[in-house]
This record gives sequence, C-alpha cells and structure tokens, in this order.
Amino acid sequence: MSRFFSQKYSNLEAYTPGEQPKDMQYVKLNTNESPFPPSEKAMAYAAQAAERLQLYCDPECTKLVGEFSKLYGIGTDQVIFTNGSDDVLNFCFMAFCDEQHPAAFPDITYGFYPVFAELNHIPYSEIPLREDFTINTADYCGIGRTIFIANPNAPTGIALTLDEIERILRSNPDNVVVIDEAYVDFGAQSAVGLIEKYENLIVTQTFSKSRSLAGGRLGMAIGNSSLIRDLNTIKYSTNPYNINSMTQAAGIGTLLDDAYCRRNCETIAENRAYLTDRLEKLGFVHTPSVSNFVFAKHTDLDGEKLYLELKKRGVLIRHFTKARIRDYNRITVGTREQLDILLDKIKKIMEENA
Ligand code: PMP
Repeated sequence: MSRFFSQKYSNLEAYTPGEQPKDMQYVKLNTNESPFPPSEKAMAYAAQAAERLQLYCDPECTKLVGEFSKLYGIGTDQVIFTNGSDDVLNFCFMAFCDEQHPAAFPDITYGFYPVFAELNHIPYSEIPLREDFTINTADYCGIGRTIFIANPNAPTGIALTLDEIERILRSNPDNVVVIDEAYVDFGAQSAVGLIEKYENLIVTQTFSKSRSLAGGRLGMAIGNSSLIRDLNTIKYSTNPYNINSMTQAAGIGTLLDDAYCRRNCETIAENRAYLTDRLEKLGFVHTPSVSNFVFAKHTDLDGEKLYLELKKRGVLIRHFTKARIRDYNRITVGTREQLDILLDKIKKIMEENA
C-alpha cells in the first residue's frame, strides 16, 4: 500500500480470481469457463465491430437490449447490460444497500459478495448454510436485509426452487432480493419470469459461462423498470461506456445463435453426469450440482494436496482455503477429453498415495 492510498480502503481485502497461469498449457478446470468457443456469429460480429473502434460504443446497448428482450420476453426497460455480471453485482451493492439496508448472503457463496460489501462500506451478515451446504430458506424470511443469493449457489452448485425464492421475496417486501443466476442455464429454474410479480426482485446473469464469452465481459441484470433505472443511475455515474462495441456485437451474435448455447448446455449436463459417476466410483462424495462445476471431496485424499498434485501434472481445479470447505475442490465440467485426462491423473495420484 502506498502512503497515498485512502484510509477508507486500508482494510480492503481484494477478491482473488481463479489463477490463470501461463507457465505451461493446462487442462483448465478452475474458473468455470465454457470449454466451447464462442458462437461463429459472435466472432464474426465482433470482428465487424472492430472496424469502427474509433467511435464510442453505444452506452444504451440498444441493439443488444432489443435482441435480449425479444428472446427473454421482457421489456427493453427491464434489463441493463454491464461489464460482466460482477459489474452489475457491485452496482446492486451500491444502489440497494446502506446502513439501513445491510446485506445478507450465505457463508459459503460467491467470494465477491463480501468484497463488494467492504468496498462500499456496507454492513453485512453471512448466514451459514446447513451442514449439507443447502440454503435454509427460513433463515432469509423477513430479515429486512438486501439479500444476495447465487442460484445455483457457488461453489456448491445446489439450487433453490422458484417456490423457495418466492417465499424469500414475499417475506422481504421492503428489501431488494438479488438472485445471481450466473450458472442457471445448466439446470436450475430461472427467476426472470417473476420480475413482473415482485417489484423487489433483481436477477443477474452472465454471458461468461453458458454463452462462452468470459473474455468479452458481458453481464446483465433483469428486473422491473424502476430498479433498472436505479442501476442505470449508478452506471451513468461511473462509466457509461462500460461495454465495448466488440463485446456488444459478440453479445448480439450469441443471442442470434441461441440454439448453439442450448446444445452446449446439454453437453455440459451430460458431461457433469459422466464426471460425477466416475468420481463416485473413485470414492469421492459431491454436492448435487446443477451447474457447470462439481464440488467434490475424497475421504482419504486431502483437498489441497489433490489440487497441488493435479497442478503439477497440468490440470487446474479450484481449491478454497475457507475452513468449512477446505477438504473440497471445485471442478469445472469440461469436454469429455478434458475430464478423461483429469480422471486419469486422479487415479494415478490415488495409486501413489495408496
Ligand atoms: N456470480 C457468480 C456466482 C460467479 O461464480 C461469477 C464468476 N466468477 C460471477 C457472478 C461473475 O461472472 P462474470 O463477471 O464473468 O459475469
């Protein structure tokens, strides 16, 4: 920290993104990216947009909003696009939390929530998941806090039902409930259909996972028009041009090729079943994930050791040091070929440790 760094951030512990090492070619199963390339249309549209990079991008993302609202059956004033969904999650903390509206989220969830709360000096509480890592809906009923729930949750992959989400929404009518659907396309039910019914609901989604655009940085929030206006007030007070023209174009191309995304999601669901089956046979236990990752541990193999041994052998998975989950690893569901390499290396590590 330099002597110029503001005191107000002196205790801020920044989020640690999943590692992106460049020292060798890894089988990368650590940051929940798609193993599939962007849609052909996305790449062609982005290349075309590059020809006009001397101009500012459209701050309203008019064409992208138009295509998205058509596909999702919502109004054009019910969505805001941002630079990845991290951007709009931060906006939600800025717009809907303060001393009177402290934040609440599970103790085991997306690691950026507490960072956004700290960054914006928002008081927050972390509500423990049950022993089996499920969310107890009752813990969130009538708590008078701005609630952030990843559905499916990360890193567990476990989803709430829409009934459970509605219970939380109904019992907190004076607080915004943010449902982070970064992984919803891989098997959970989306709450987007509830935005007309609940004026306190914000749903965030991303193009980073199911739509193969993690490097393009495109995310969005969906909600009633007055909540979206609030988020736009924050966006236009920070960086109106937060989505560059190539990414806007790639986003449009992606939406026009929705069948490609659906097919990839089906393949990921099949590969997830393959991976969990093989891991079970090797003695692992795992949470019931409906996401593009599997959260698994082995009773005889230390979680950190497995992560380090796999890294040595060129396979990256994600290990967390938090006490409750340090025995586990989060493994992104890749292609069958990637998973076979992973499983083969795990078998070898187990043999060496026998
Ligand atoms: N929410 C959750 C639960 C995530 O795991 C991630 C990915 N790290 C994000 C949001 C943000 O993703 P992005 O900013 O790439 O949209």
